[in-house]
Amino acid sequence: MTWAPLLRLREALGPDAELAVVGGAVRDELLGRPHADWDLATRLLPQAVMDRARTAGLKVIPTGLQHGTVTVILEDRPVEITTFRSDGDYLDGRRPESVRLGVDLLEDLSRRDFTINAMALPVGGGALVDPFGGQVDLAAKVIRAVGDPMLRFGEDGLRPLRACRFAAQLGFEVEAATLAAIPRRLDVSRKVSVERVFTEMDKLLRGLEPARGLDLLARTGLLDLWLPELRSLIGCEQNRYHRHDVWIHTLEVAGFAPPEPALRWAALLHDAGKPATRITGPEGDVHFYGHEEASLEVAEAILGRLKASHALRQDVAALIRHHGIHPTKAWGDAACRRFLRRLADDGLSLARWGAFRLADLQGKGVDVDQNLAEHGGWMARLQALAATTPPLSVRALALDGAALMVLAGRGGGPWLGDLQRRLLEAVIEDPGTNTPERLAELARKELGQA
Ligand code: ATP
Ligand code: MG
Repeated sequence: MTWAPLLRLREALGPDAELAVVGGAVRDELLGRPHADWDLATRLLPQAVMDRARTAGLKVIPTGLQHGTVTVILEDRPVEITTFRSDGDYLDGRRPESVRLGVDLLEDLSRRDFTINAMALPVGGGALVDPFGGQVDLAAKVIRAVGDPMLRFGEDGLRPLRACRFAAQLGFEVEAATLAAIPRRLDVSRKVSVERVFTEMDKLLRGLEPARGLDLLARTGLLDLWLPELRSLIGCEQNRYHRHDVWIHTLEVAGFAPPEPALRWAALLHDAGKPATRITGPEGDVHFYGHEEASLEVAEAILGRLKASHALRQDVAALIRHHGIHPTKAWGDAACRRFLRRLADDGLSLARWGAFRLADLQGKGVDVDQNLAEHGGWMARLQALAATTPPLSVRALALDGAALMVLAGRGGGPWLGDLQRRLLEAVIEDPGTNTPERLAELARKELGQA
C-alpha cells in the first residue's frame, strides 16, 4: 500500500480516523494484481470526513451519505471513504433495511461477502487486519463466505453470483460449504435486480477464466435463473468439425477470446441457436443451418432482459452475424471486398472479426493447427486488401448523389439509391472503375442513356 496521496489523506483526517484500505483493494494488493480503485474505510462519521478533508484543502463530494460514503479527489482520482458500518436486517434478499454507522472495523469486515474481501490494511503502517483467514484463503486460492454461507446467501442473493465471478476473475475454487449453499438459495438469488446481475456477469465473462465461472453457474443452477436459454447447449453434440458439445465449445471460445465485453459476450452467445437448428442428415451427419440467426435471437433476448447497453448489443450482434463465415479458395479479390463491405456495413472491424474467428477456431478443438494457419493466411490477404482502402460504401463513390442527379437530369428519388448501389457493386468488382469518367459512363448505361 504505497500510493503516497493516501498518506496525505490520513494526515488530513487525523490518526483517530483509523483510515484503512479495505475490500477488493487489499485483496488485489496482496495478490499483486492491478486494481482500478482504492476502497477506504474510517471510524469517522461522513460529516467529520468532509469537514476535515475540506479543511486540508481537498475536494470532497458527498456521494452516498446515507450509506456513509464520501468521495475525495486525490490527484484527480475519486477515492471513496466509507464509515465503518454494519448492515441492518435483510428482509428482501437484496439490500439491508438500514445501515448502522459508528461500529468498529471488525464489525465492518464481518458484513463483507468473502474472506478474501474482508481484510483491512491501515493506511500509514500497521498490521493487516484479517479476522476470517483471508490471507490463508488467498494463498490456497479459495473463495469462502464470511460466516455461515446459508445465512449470508439468504441475506443477499447476489453473493452466489459474486462467488462465481471471483472464481472466474482470480482462477480460484469455491470452498465446498460455500458452493453447496448456492443451489439451496436460488430463491433468494432470483430476486436480485438485473442491473446488479449484469455487472457481475460482465466481470465474470471478462475474467481470467470465464469457463470456470460459467461452469459454476451451470453446476449450481444460477444459469437457469438468468441464462435459461443456454441450458440446452449442455450435451448438444456436434459434428466432425468439433471436438466438444456446444456448451464446452462455448466455454472454450470464451477463454480464447480477448477479454473485452463484446467479444466475451459474443463468445457466450454465438452458438446459442444451435440446439434449435440441429438436424441429422441421412448419414447421421449433424448440421446447424441458419444457427447464426437463431443465436442472434437468443442473444437479443438475453441481453435485452439484462438491460445491456445498446452499443454492446449491437457489437455482439455483429460478431454473431458474421462468425460462421469462412473464406474459401473460390474467393477472388472481389468476393473478399464484398465481405469487407458486409463487415463495414455492420460496424465490425476486420481485426475484431478476425480475433473472434480465431477464438472460435481454437475452441473447436479439431484440426486446430491447420485451421489457424489457414486463418492467418486469410487475415493477411484480407488485411492487405483493406489496406488499399477500396471503396466499400456509396459515400466512397467518385460521383456523389448531386453529380448523379445532374447527369440524369432528375431530382432525387428511389432511383438514385438503386443506381448508387449498382455503381457500388461495379466498383467493388473492379475498383479501377471508381473515377468520375468511368462512373458517368456506367451510370448512363444503367439509366439507358448510353
Ligand atoms: P472489483 O475489483 O470488481 O471492484 P471488489 O471486491 O472491490 O472487486 P466491489 O463490488 O467493488 O468488489 O465491492 C467492494 C467490497 O465491498 C468487496 O470487496 C466486499 O468486501 C464488499 N461487498 C461488495 N458487495 C458485497 C455484497 N453483495 N455483500 C457483501 N459484501 C460486499
Ligand atoms: Mg471495487
